[in-house]
Amino acid sequence: MILIKQELIKSEIIKDNKQDDDNEGTVRTQSDKSENSKNLNNLCLNLEDIQKGKNAIIHFVQHQYFEDEFMKLRSGFPVKCSSKLHKLDPFIDTHGILRVGGRLRQSDLPDEMKHPIILLKTCNISHLIVRDIHRKIGHLGKNSILTHLRERYWIIGANAIIKSIVSKCVVCRKYQSPIIQQKMADLPSDRVTPDMPPFTAVGIGYFGPFEIRQRRCSVKRYGVIFTCLKMRAILRNCKFVRYRLMY
Ligand SMILES: [Zn+2]
Repeated sequence: MILIKQELIKSEIIKDNKQDDDNEGTVRTQSDKSENSKNLNNLCLNLEDIQKGKNAIIHFVQHQYFEDEFMKLRSGFPVKCSSKLHKLDPFIDTHGILRVGGRLRQSDLPDEMKHPIILLKTCNISHLIVRDIHRKIGHLGKNSILTHLRERYWIIGANAIIKSIVSKCVVCRKYQSPIIQQKMADLPSDRVTPDMPPFTAVGIGYFGPFEIRQRRCSVKRYGVIFTCLKMRAILRNCKFVRYRLMY
């Protein structure tokens, strides 16, 4: 439908141009331009056109794959037990589209959710629908895609399509890629040399500032920790507290 509309618009424009070329003596006035723009607006797609186009495409695709089921249902019989649609209890709606019957007829959900449109994973349109949903929901996971898909469509074998689309998606692969680990450097000689007394080589860590009260005013104070590089011990000797935490 969209392509047909676009072709009509193009043909109208070409016709107008040809008419203008034929009438070489005449000058295109402002009123002519406004009429052309009105005609183009009338030819633009509206919601009803888009919906009709969708229904026409789905109707065409379903007839390609479920011709036997259509024949059975139109003649008033249920589908064969050997059919893939047997468990779905399918029916044909007022637009001639095959939908899931299911067990949600008493539910308050919208009709589209209660009776999703049936498609097969081999249909090209199924891939396009899944890809569209995947893009619209912001490259979420497989379960999210399936949940959104089931709101309108019941694609038999949908998991396989979702898996293939997500695995080929560059954005998803970037999101799911493992975090790169940095290679650690060699340990310094002070940490691996044996037979040295503790605290021969130390690491110093500063921290702060702390707001503390000193008489009637608040002042900033910083702390420092000494660690032994060999034993990883922290200096706790009371004699050196003033060096460990200097207030
Ligand atoms: Zn993705």
